[in-house]
Amino acid sequence: MEEVKTKVCPKCGEEKPLTEEFWYLRHYAYGKSYYEGPCRICHKTRAKELRNNIRKEKKREKENIPIPTDKTCSYCGETKPLKYKYWVWDCKFNKPYSSHRCRECTRIYNLEYKQKAKQKIEKQKAKRIRARERKKIKERVYRQAIDDKYVKDELRKKIGVLTQDITPEMIELKRVQIQLFRKTKQFLKEEAA
Ligand SMILES: [Zn+2]
Ligand SMILES: [Zn+2]
Repeated sequence: MEEVKTKVCPKCGEEKPLTEEFWYLRHYAYGKSYYEGPCRICHKTRAKELRNNIRKEKKREKENIPIPTDKTCSYCGETKPLKYKYWVWDCKFNKPYSSHRCRECTRIYNLEYKQKAKQKIEKQKAKRIRARERKKIKERVYRQAIDDKYVKDELRKKIGVLTQDITPEMIELKRVQIQLFRKTKQFLKEEAA
């Protein structure tokens, strides 16, 4: 069976089969061909929206309905003139980018967003540090008790024995060796003092 290639549509976020749900575009002039970004359904919806916008604009011209001069921000509830100063402006279409957030509210929103992201990163960092500390304490306990796990690690790291080759006798021997080594070290230390 042949594997069906899929693609996630950036607009609706759904994963769909590439050949059936996306338009294949051929640009003969550039010698390029590719699958379009949004899926066929999203493409259709967007086209419909654009057509509607043009129709609205034509209706406005025909019936001489005045272009609105101000807009109410749904975040702060204030009505502000439709000007670059008050709204984040889309220069291409000469209208605000966001229909429901004024410039000031967008600024506040972005600040809050940044702060939240920062907090999230700090939280993750703290979590990592705590985990590292816990691991250190655990390792210290293993080391002091000359636990099986610690002895196995020593065998692996310092002598290079493979995990499957470690026998209980080996662990016992190594443990005695570590105990002896530690006692000698302590003895020498006391002598020197
Ligand atoms: Zn889509
Ligand atoms: Zn506002």
